Amino acid sequence: MAAANPAAVLQIDLDAVAENWRFLAARHAGATAAVLKADAYGIGAAQVAPKLFAAGCRHFFTAHLSEAVAIRDLVPGAMLAVLHGILPGDEAIFAEYGILPVLCSLDDIALWRAEADRQNKPVTALLHVDTGMARSGLAAPDIEAVRANPALLAGIDLRYVMTHLVSAEQPDSAASAAQEKRFYEIKKYFPAAGASLANSSGMFLGEGFTADLARPGAALFGINPTPGHANPMRPVVRLSARILQIRDIAAGTSVGYNGTWTAEKPSRIATVAVGYADGFLRSLSNRATARFDGIKIPLVGRVSMDLTTYDVTDAPYAKPGDRLELIGPGHDADAMAVEAGTNGYEILTSLGRRYSRVYTGK
Ligand SMILES: *Cc1c(COP(=O)(O)O)cnc(C)c1O
Repeated sequence: MAAANPAAVLQIDLDAVAENWRFLAARHAGATAAVLKADAYGIGAAQVAPKLFAAGCRHFFTAHLSEAVAIRDLVPGAMLAVLHGILPGDEAIFAEYGILPVLCSLDDIALWRAEADRQNKPVTALLHVDTGMARSGLAAPDIEAVRANPALLAGIDLRYVMTHLVSAEQPDSAASAAQEKRFYEIKKYFPAAGASLANSSGMFLGEGFTADLARPGAALFGINPTPGHANPMRPVVRLSARILQIRDIAAGTSVGYNGTWTAEKPSRIATVAVGYADGFLRSLSNRATARFDGIKIPLVGRVSMDLTTYDVTDAPYAKPGDRLELIGPGHDADAMAVEAGTNGYEILTSLGRRYSRVYTGK
């Protein structure tokens, strides 16, 4: 199928993804999974999953069952688990595809236990316990209920007990230490299962966090797991857009919808074919920067649906047909996130399907 937007190219370096996974895996003795929810953070689960499998990854997570089914054949024999637990009626699909639910509630536990009864043999699963996020996983009373009545888990072979960290990217946060302590108190009730706490940033907090299974997502795709420090990850994504037109405007001329930017001096305005319909966030209006030959190029005016305007006055030799680098080594997804007032995760997961995609290192 022809790409809908031939004038903007999203280049994805799968070798960098594999190298990022190997770098994280080498940080500890336990296993290192890959979290590939939301189509591998917008990067493309169908491309990323086999690449990571070839790199040695044998544990994968998605958010939804449908996301796991989509990559099941690409990671043969690997553990593939669904973070959101079980929806009633989906038990047989989990069983058929050999996908493990992460049990997040007493209802999930009951559904999976019934599946063990139906199959008349033990079924495997992970268990998510809440240690401070108050979002998903067994809450304290649920954990007590399971402890008081181990029969609730009869027939369920727990591979890992996991929790999710609230503020892992803030190494000085007291929250992580409190969660670690609480987690290992709970973990004592499930001695046969492995321990899993860390997301990408959690892998930089020490051995208690990396534990038996780490669950990085964002760092695989180049997002800095250690904000405020140099990014140890390799960049994965480049977004460039072709200049469609350049116009010279006089001082006092406004640009774009509602004239939110007005030239203070004679300026050269380049129009590129990216807009919010491509996942180029409208909050970048008048805030983002691009690069041309290393020169910083400010976005001026509003981001519109399919077009965006940049002030290329400082790059007088830029001409139609040349490319502006919107995301790249000189200006990565984290830098763009600061401009948009969000985080790098939202920048990546917003990358639309409309850009021309070029995968290298397949
Ligand atoms: C998304 C997610 C991860 C991965 O988090 P990153 O910060 O992207 O590394 C790990 N565990 C759970 C439960 C998640 O929801």
